[in-house]
Amino acid sequence: MYGHGVSPGISIGKVEIYKEFDEKIKKRDVIDVKHEVKKYLQAIRVCKHDLEEECSEVKKQIGKENFLKVEYFNEYRNHLDMLVDEEIVEQVKREIIGRHINAEFALKNVMDNYIGIFESIEDDEMNHKVMDLKYILLKLLKIMISFSDLENKKTGIKKIVITRNLKTADTTKIDLNSVIGIVSETGGETSHSAIMAKALNVPAVVALEGILSEVKDGDEIIIDGFKGRVIVHPTDDQKKEYLEKQKRENERKEKLNEYINKKTITEDGHIIELSSNIATLNDIPGVINSGSEGIGLFRTEFIYMNREKLPTEDEQYIIYKRVALSLKGKPVVIRTLDIGGDKELEYFQFPKEDNPFLGYRAIRMSLDKTDIFKVQLRAILRASIFGNLKIMFPLISHYHELINAKKILQEVKDEMDKENIEYNKNIEVGMMVEVPAAVLIADFLAKEVDFFSIGTNDLIQYTVAVDRTNEHLDYLYTPYHPAVLKLIKMTIDSAHKNGIWVGLCGEVAGNESIIPLLVSMGLDEFSMNSNEVLRSRYVINHISKKEYAKNIDEILSLRSCVKVKEKLLELNTKYNCFYNIFE
Ligand code: PEP
Ligand code: MG
Repeated sequence: MYGHGVSPGISIGKVEIYKEFDEKIKKRDVIDVKHEVKKYLQAIRVCKHDLEEECSEVKKQIGKENFLKVEYFNEYRNHLDMLVDEEIVEQVKREIIGRHINAEFALKNVMDNYIGIFESIEDDEMNHKVMDLKYILLKLLKIMISFSDLENKKTGIKKIVITRNLKTADTTKIDLNSVIGIVSETGGETSHSAIMAKALNVPAVVALEGILSEVKDGDEIIIDGFKGRVIVHPTDDQKKEYLEKQKRENERKEKLNEYINKKTITEDGHIIELSSNIATLNDIPGVINSGSEGIGLFRTEFIYMNREKLPTEDEQYIIYKRVALSLKGKPVVIRTLDIGGDKELEYFQFPKEDNPFLGYRAIRMSLDKTDIFKVQLRAILRASIFGNLKIMFPLISHYHELINAKKILQEVKDEMDKENIEYNKNIEVGMMVEVPAAVLIADFLAKEVDFFSIGTNDLIQYTVAVDRTNEHLDYLYTPYHPAVLKLIKMTIDSAHKNGIWVGLCGEVAGNESIIPLLVSMGLDEFSMNSNEVLRSRYVINHISKKEYAKNIDEILSLRSCVKVKEKLLELNTKYNCFYNIFE
């Protein structure tokens, strides 16, 4: 079967069908009911421990006297009471044993019953009870599911995850150490399946409609991320052929390691900065091992996901400080919360919208919920004394958004000055250029910031009017569209005219067929998945910026993306500035 190869490499392994949270709590018949009861009781203990820890943290933050007065204290007591409520516990145990079913389903069944009863009574106290019950239910379910995931992990089986469509939030729920490949029925170049596979350095094939009906858990499978091919139940000959290919690929990768400690510099002496994109602290070892020169994009929304409430200032501060210290003075661009669009928060009610990608997201939300925005800015500023942190605002489309964001940043700085809290007074402030409107007013915007970073994932979607997650229109969503390349050039020119540096942190940054053109246009910084850094350094170190630049006008005068792609491949071959792992 053929799909679209979006992360190179070959993997041979066993299938694990990715199950969504809802699916994991579906009813399952079980034989070992004792094990299920034990799992439930263990989850209660873990949950109790979590609540107590959280409580002592709040106490520490606001002081013992205040603690007894705040609403949180009552909430905490209610949660504890419900957790160990004898009637509920006994009922769940009876459900598991009597019906021979899994603990998750039994718990949900019992709790839903109570929730239904309380919801039917219109009264404030009952409303609170419903909220508390839902809170405890979700917490316990998450704990029990994490136990099951842990059990799978213990078996140490390497798996190829097959999914309908990996969403951003799912990426934090998968046991990443055991994943050796990803296949999804939907998705394109910039889908989360693709981004995650590249971050993990495992092959991926997307847009493989029908694969879920062809496989079941444990089936043997080969995926070829170069060609987008998937072979279910391979023959011995096919396995032999692919093991041989895998060996050759590993040898090539070994050779690239020579580039770890090299400078990123073109043949004619232009130094370029090669940075990494990260989503969580787990990505930091990858950044350090890749020979990356910094972090050009920290997608902080992952700090806000898969939890029950907003992260506190202290929680965020600890994370930003850790990143700053780990990078030892190398630049780290922290992008403020970019939620909305296809990224949601379980605990935050987003407005119902027909077009979420054109809606309430990113900086629009931060400028509306300034209390949330200020907590994040304070945390970044506090951590800024431990390294070279920079702040970046996402999705700026209007001039006044940038001005307002800066105004709020200034307010936070003023408050911190009053409280004598230290921060880097010269912290650089930049913005993402990911909307065509921002490109067209880049001259004005550039006067207000220290740097731009071009977000091509969104810039492409807003330029060609194609939802970046819509696999049916994948053929229109392309960086080779001349309009996209012209917008990139305009952004670079505006930045330089106004004396600021400009980077690019969308997936295009690691696309070796476009890297030489971007270098020749004068891009100062590239930020990409860590495992694309060495290949990109290899490519950059084989470019003569001056020579390549002679072709910019011709490339930009082409009228179709097919022609642009062909031309780039022709030039990269002519100048020998490609690594071409996709052989
Ligand atoms: C982009 O839009 O190119 C970008 C880097 O941001 P994200 O993919 O997180 O939207
Ligand atoms: Mg974006």
